[in-house]
Amino acid sequence: MVENSDAELIAKITALKKRANAVILVHNYQLGEVQDIADFVGDSLELSQKAARTDADVIVFCGVHFMAETASILCPDKIVLLPDMHAGCPMADMVTAKRLREKKKEHPKATVVCYINSSAAVKAESDICCTSANAVRLVEKLTNASEILFVPDQYLGNYVATKTGKEMILWPGYCPSHIRIQPQDISRQKAEHPQAKAVVHPECRPEVIALADEVLSTGGMIRLARENDLEEMIVGTEIGIIHRLRKENPEKRFFPASEQAVCPRMKLITLETVLWSLEFMTNQV
Ligand code: SF4
Repeated sequence: MVENSDAELIAKITALKKRANAVILVHNYQLGEVQDIADFVGDSLELSQKAARTDADVIVFCGVHFMAETASILCPDKIVLLPDMHAGCPMADMVTAKRLREKKKEHPKATVVCYINSSAAVKAESDICCTSANAVRLVEKLTNASEILFVPDQYLGNYVATKTGKEMILWPGYCPSHIRIQPQDISRQKAEHPQAKAVVHPECRPEVIALADEVLSTGGMIRLARENDLEEMIVGTEIGIIHRLRKENPEKRFFPASEQAVCPRMKLITLETVLWSLEFMTNQV
């Protein structure tokens, strides 16, 4: 049931959106009420693809800074709003272009693979940009690379190295939300829900990944949940995705691997900040 105050906010957002010819793109980790006003909900790659194709004049990007920055680069003629400028990704901030340049001097022959969770400046210093969905496939294709430097997520990098059998130099970054998921969380959930499939994100610790039935990006989790034979899922990623999984699959059961897996920066964006940025066109990226 929508609260009155929320209903008023939503009505104002809808009117302003129409006036500005805006589209609202929302990441899977956003608050449920923000997901509910979206024109499109998805992972970072899907959102950047949507941004590149939209004919709206304004993109309200409900995610974190590097995602809005990507949208802005893909759509230089559009206004991209990030409703709260403090919504940065701590993992993306763990590597800077300057530090990466220094590392490249130590490994001048290395092919630099950067995870999409990085700034535009870091991407510009890299040879290839990957997502959690295509990282294994892309690295597999680097048959001529003598060295591979993977930034910034050491856990995704470690997962890719394990799957491809390639030795990689791993930047010591990590997602502070995903590392809150502990192996004992998966074991406990599996004991409580023995029929459930345990699915975790590759940003999780290797000990957590070792206990999972499947390792998938958020987009992969959404698709798997739609499969007919799946009835219960233990979800090892940021808990915002549970809202979408339950909404799209009301007959199925989803259990967060850990209630602690919350990204506080994602949660900075609210109906109020969306309204405010649309009304005053503030926080342009
Ligand atoms: S969940 Fe982790 S990787 Fe995603 S935005 Fe938050 S800190 Fe960054």
